Amino acid sequence: MILSLYPEPASMSTLVEPCPHLTYLHHCLNLAKLSPPRPALFRAGAVLVSRKLVRGTDNELYNDDRLLSSGHTMELVKRPHAEQACLSNYAAVHGVPDNEVGDVLPSEPDRSLIMYMSFEPCVEHEGSDMSCVRKIIETRKGGRKGIEKVYFGSLSPCSKSNKSSARQMLGEAGIEWQLVEGLEQEILSVAREGCVNQGKF
Ligand SMILES: [Zn+2]
Repeated sequence: MILSLYPEPASMSTLVEPCPHLTYLHHCLNLAKLSPPRPALFRAGAVLVSRKLVRGTDNELYNDDRLLSSGHTMELVKRPHAEQACLSNYAAVHGVPDNEVGDVLPSEPDRSLIMYMSFEPCVEHEGSDMSCVRKIIETRKGGRKGIEKVYFGSLSPCSKSNKSSARQMLGEAGIEWQLVEGLEQEILSVAREGCVNQGKF
């Protein structure tokens, strides 16, 4: 199921701000362009944001975002995917190993952690490292709020059908997701530049 283009507006009309989703996805696109084209990796960007909520609701406000971290493909050689880099960068700044990033992410009652990414996160990695969707889900381990919502500008550029859908996994973990329309062709074009193996991330 593909959710609606934009979330329900905040119930208090005076608090409605211009929807920033495409702005963040443009940022992801520009981050993706920082990654040199490679034959076996799609180029992506990811941004982690702390967003204020309308008190007592899950409605997002857009006028008080805090940019927490960002990352792009091959920014970190050992964490080649954009979402990995985004979380690893946050962990590094807070002096913890990658697998403990959930311990240091902010958890505030009136705020929500949101991740924007070029396209839906991968569900499997080559080698032993955890997939990006798992890393996102892991931020909620132990009952933490962790990342509560993800926005992406395209479905997976991977031509193979996924064994398990990232969207399904996110949903099962209680993480909302939303496909934002408007930049898909550009995102896929940037993602696929130099990529000869369409079956891998
Ligand atoms: Zn990934």
